[in-house]
Amino acid sequence: MEQDLIYEQYRNLGLSAQVYTFGKKIEEKLKTRFEKIDQIAEYNQMKVIAAMQKCKVSAECLNQVTSGYGYDDIGRDTLEAVYAECFRGEAALVRPQITCGTHALALALMSNLRPGDELLSPVGKPYDTLEEVIGIRPSKGSLAEYGITYRQVDLIDGKEFDFEGIKNALNEKTKLVTIQRSKGYATRDTLSVAKIEQLISFIKSIKPDVICMVDNCYGEFVEEREPLEAGADMIVGSLIKNAGGGLAPIGGYIVGKKECIENAAYRLTAPGLGKEVGATLGLIQSFYQGLFQAPVVVAGALKGAIFAANIYEKLGFGVVPDSTESRHDIIQSVIFNDPKGVIAFCQGIQAAAPVDSYVTPEPWDMPGYDAQVIMAAGAFVQGSSIELSADGPMKPPYAVYFQGGLTWYHAKLGILMSLQKLTDVGLVSADKLI
Ligand SMILES: *Cc1c(COP(=O)(O)O)cnc(C)c1O
Repeated sequence: MEQDLIYEQYRNLGLSAQVYTFGKKIEEKLKTRFEKIDQIAEYNQMKVIAAMQKCKVSAECLNQVTSGYGYDDIGRDTLEAVYAECFRGEAALVRPQITCGTHALALALMSNLRPGDELLSPVGKPYDTLEEVIGIRPSKGSLAEYGITYRQVDLIDGKEFDFEGIKNALNEKTKLVTIQRSKGYATRDTLSVAKIEQLISFIKSIKPDVICMVDNCYGEFVEEREPLEAGADMIVGSLIKNAGGGLAPIGGYIVGKKECIENAAYRLTAPGLGKEVGATLGLIQSFYQGLFQAPVVVAGALKGAIFAANIYEKLGFGVVPDSTESRHDIIQSVIFNDPKGVIAFCQGIQAAAPVDSYVTPEPWDMPGYDAQVIMAAGAFVQGSSIELSADGPMKPPYAVYFQGGLTWYHAKLGILMSLQKLTDVGLVSADKLI
């Protein structure tokens, strides 16, 4: 098709010819990298289909609309078998009753730890919301309140494992080790599955019976292998991130050793009930279809992240990861050193959204944060961060974090629109767009 015709569409959406052409040049240089991403998506697509076939997913599974107790929900039970197969675990718990990623992680921890046990994070401070789960920041119902202690060993310079420190931290009380795959909003590297494997094998060589849990949020389907294939005992994630493929409207999962999953199920519902109850209320089809689409959705999000890194690095901004680094999650950050940059970026992402594109995001005092935060999201599922979304705290270094995009083309539009907004307010001068 004539490029001009494609540009027509972008122009209708508010993009200047200069921004469009600049983006096109950057995209052309990324062909080989995008091909690699497509190969991983292809590999993972086959993995998901094979799991669905092996578990004999049927029309009956998709049509299950259970209510009340939800006994004998074959849609739910088969989906859990599919997750176990796909992520290479013995069992899985995949439920709409798991409300978000933090809940899934809290559930996995609280159900597998007992009073007197110790939890270790060998990769530094975990995701913000886990601070209250663990009791690093005191909270009602935290692990600390139940007499579960916590230790942490930081990465050396945000990169390398502190093997000596980890060895010293492991003790007779250490029951569970939590390893966060994605850096989240921290300033360390995201861990590849190969690095997770190295870490787990070191830990198990010292304490073979310790449970190794991986917070898999934002990591699913980014690589060919998942952490259970690298020695982890349990992986945990959210269905409104990668694994839900943008279709699951709620939910979380835990996959891993049978005993870990049983513990989690008895905690989610009640001792004695476990996995036997839990109606799926007509949501189950979206869980299946979301998982089916997830490898391709993740590939689109990854392309968007790489595209943005290349655009903003070229224009002289700091980007993490940088334009050439290998990717282990879908998060990209751009450092503007200027609050106006964060605001313009987020307004561009919002302006590109299929939903709520006409609203203008502004910084606000969000509960739990020490600075104002601006967020852009025009998503089909509220708060979904596998959909194109961005946020940034209004404090130095004025960085924006963004992720997602259900299709590569939408991610591309969002990033180009962010650049348009930065150009409009004069933070990027037009003569740089060559
Ligand atoms: C998003 C995320 C969580 C928490 O998930 P929510 O659904 O926001 O509660 C935990 N860990 C990591 C690494 C995440 O990215």
